[in-house]
Amino acid sequence: MAYVSLYRKWRPRLFSDVVGQQHVVRTLSNALGEGRIAHAYLFTGPRGTGKTTVARLLAKGLNCVNGPTAEPCGQCPSCTRIAEGMAMDVVEIDGASNRGIDEMREIRERVRYAPTEGKYKIYIIDEVHMLTNEAFNALLKVLEEPPAHVVFVFATTEPHKIPATVASRCQRFDFRRLGSADAIGRLKHVAAAEGIDVTDDALALIARYADGSLRDGLGILDQARAYADQVTADVVADVLGVVPLAQVQRFADVLAAGDTAQGLALVRELQEAGRDLRQFLKDAARYLRDVLLLGAGDETAGAALSEEDRAVLERHARELEPDLILEAIQALGAADGDMRWAVRSSLPVEMAVIRLTRAGGRAEGADGAATAPAGGAAAAGGDAADTAALLARIERLEQLVAQLAGGAAAGPAASGGGPTEPRDAAVAKPSVAPAAGPPAQAGTEAALAAGDRLAAVLAHWDTLHRTLRERRHLEVQAFLREGRPVAVRGDAVVIEFPPHRGFHRSSLDTEANRRILEDILKPLLGWDVRVTTTLAGEEEAGTGTAPAAAAPSSAAPAARRARGSGDGAVSQGPAPGREGGRAAQAAAPPDDPVQHPAVQEALRVFGGKIIGVERRDA
Ligand SMILES: [Zn+2]
Repeated sequence: MAYVSLYRKWRPRLFSDVVGQQHVVRTLSNALGEGRIAHAYLFTGPRGTGKTTVARLLAKGLNCVNGPTAEPCGQCPSCTRIAEGMAMDVVEIDGASNRGIDEMREIRERVRYAPTEGKYKIYIIDEVHMLTNEAFNALLKVLEEPPAHVVFVFATTEPHKIPATVASRCQRFDFRRLGSADAIGRLKHVAAAEGIDVTDDALALIARYADGSLRDGLGILDQARAYADQVTADVVADVLGVVPLAQVQRFADVLAAGDTAQGLALVRELQEAGRDLRQFLKDAARYLRDVLLLGAGDETAGAALSEEDRAVLERHARELEPDLILEAIQALGAADGDMRWAVRSSLPVEMAVIRLTRAGGRAEGADGAATAPAGGAAAAGGDAADTAALLARIERLEQLVAQLAGGAAAGPAASGGGPTEPRDAAVAKPSVAPAAGPPAQAGTEAALAAGDRLAAVLAHWDTLHRTLRERRHLEVQAFLREGRPVAVRGDAVVIEFPPHRGFHRSSLDTEANRRILEDILKPLLGWDVRVTTTLAGEEEAGTGTAPAAAAPSSAAPAARRARGSGDGAVSQGPAPGREGGRAAQAAAPPDDPVQHPAVQEALRVFGGKIIGVERRDA
């Protein structure tokens, strides 16, 4: 049996089932009950609020054997045919694709004939504002002298685009964006009836993102229940690609406390959980906006939050200075822009965190260290100014290294250090370092190309996600979200998943899914892209599609020479090593200076080795 979406399955069959539009439903059903039928109705309101649903209910009420009636039986041939969209006398027209004068002239011809089955001919024109002026004029001719058996229902999200001459001949009903309580109530009802195990905070999150549209809300619930047995806020966040509220709240806590270390730890955790950092920036900015509005006395801010989360929002409104919030929103936006160009995508976020927590710290008079001389990669902990400067310098150097080394910079996975560098030692290393470019003819250009190619992949990554969404490959997108491109080997784009996302990786890595990704990437990137996947901490997928995997190990020296890297042993493969290093980093105590991001960056860029830690304040 074909799967019926929750939205279609739970479409109201009676006026009394319609949620959140009581004002419309009451007036309409009273009129139907008393047989007062207008010739034209104009239904306005946001998408997903039930305009076409109510239009169909109106059609049923008119053409039911008992009609006109406010309570169509739902059983008679007319009612069932309308429900199936098969009724001859109910014509649904999409105004967006039938917007010309010819279509309206045809309607003008056809309205003259009597209905074939029921008492009325009902024309439902959706997105009516899309009609051309000529089409509206043709329509107006019918509205000026409508045949007694014809009823028009015009639905639109943009009523201001309807000519006054047309609008004035309609009885107008304004559909409202669904309030969060109504939306949550309806979602809860459907979930219970369908046996879907869903938590309250998940419902609140769905309602918040559905933004008053029940159709969107049920669509999200539909996806979420296909994704997991128990629909929690985390699951919904996964499906929506948003960051769980708890993480965003933690970011606000970090700001309030001016706690740089906690802020950097949060960024690291988000990355390790495979969260999209740009989405985090958006969600955090959205949340801070709510904090700001609430602080300014706008009680509707964060209305869709659960009671508990609303209390947290109120606390943040008390704790955070408006100036700091404004600065934070600005910094998050800037970081979002910078991420396009950053060699390592987390860097701009880390910089923003450092700047903002430093601003918070200063408010508490804790910036004594700011005047300390810059330098010293081992200056872990509190000295934010040094760290920020250092990170900035590292980023510049990193870009330089990327430009110079080409192949060696094939991604954040590249490592400039020797094989003995400490963080790689933490995990089992692949015994063979795969080559970067096409092995045999690996000239300098080919080696350089690998770095450029990864940059190109990174630059188009958002577009890939957007295109997947547009083409409704939502599952592919959901799985892909957990991975990220770490290298380009020959024509193959390597997508790496965190160790605990093996399910996502194997779900994504099917022939059909790879083809979907490749078909989108090819025209964007301009080469014959193939896609391979890898799990952090393991060898690349042995699909044989990756030239790197197939390359004989003897090719490595050639590629190395081509890169012109004097000390050789540029370990190209260790996306695994790197991710393993990160995992080890997370497990370490946060106050361990060796694990400080700045130190780790320096190690990565310069490839040094830590021989000791000296505390400056001692
Ligand atoms: Zn009926």
